[in-house]
Amino acid sequence: RLAGRTALVTGSTSGIGEAIARVLASSGATVVVSGRTLPRAQAVVDVITAAGGTAFAVPADLSGDTDEIREFARVATRALGGSLDILVNNAGIYPVGPTAALADADLDAVLATNIRAPHVLVAELAPAMAERGSGAIVNIGSWMSRVGIPFGAAYTASKAAIEQMTRTWAAEFGPSGVNVNTVAPGATATPGNAADAEQVEAMTAATVAGVPVRPVDIAFAVRFLVSDEARFAHGTVLDVDGGIANT
Ligand code: NAD
Repeated sequence: RLAGRTALVTGSTSGIGEAIARVLASSGATVVVSGRTLPRAQAVVDVITAAGGTAFAVPADLSGDTDEIREFARVATRALGGSLDILVNNAGIYPVGPTAALADADLDAVLATNIRAPHVLVAELAPAMAERGSGAIVNIGSWMSRVGIPFGAAYTASKAAIEQMTRTWAAEFGPSGVNVNTVAPGATATPGNAADAEQVEAMTAATVAGVPVRPVDIAFAVRFLVSDEARFAHGTVLDVDGGIANT
């Protein structure tokens, strides 16, 4: 159902982003896979290709220089034939711990990766979608954006920020035919939080579902929001968290 569409999924060399890239590709989209290193991106491209999909690897460091991020957006668009239909802002880091224990460099990195990079990518890519009159942007938020948890203030603030940026962008680009929405995952077992397996288990136990969210479950929600079926969804937050943020 996404045949002929092109997609850029940031942070798609691992976990949730990888699942999103694979699901979009299996639905017919041509996908740019991206992460910090080329070999990891190429490995995901190889999996997609072996499954009959089409993908290209374009690495980037999204915590860095704004000009580099803009250049990354242009290179990715060129790899897709010059036109981008779908942007998924998924790359994110989540340093957690007591507020006083967060190093200044980690504070800067989480704000740069989770807020600044999506902003720069939308600034670079959304105007062309708006000019064309169609496009879809999904930002990956978190169930932690709306609850008080005694660790990870910077991370949870970054996810609250992306939800609000979603609403603002929906208002800014929606009238031009661009759908902007958030998918907010619950505790999902991924390489990124493998070290916190106990915490994931404890959070899962607190959900209605009682079993962990899988990366592919997040990907299915993204696929819906970038499809024509969701053309009236503007600025929504779709919680895919087993029922924790709303219960
Ligand atoms: P992960 O650590 O498994 O993967 C993160 C991806 O982002 C990787 O591909 C990595 O290369 C990329 N990335 C990180 N820093 C980058 C940088 N500076 N430049 C370019 N790419 C970079 O993470 P995950 O658990 O799959 O999480 C993906 C997204 O989902 C994040 O935004 C995270 O905040 C969000 N999320 C995750 C959970 C969870 O429980 N796993 C819950 C809620 C929200």
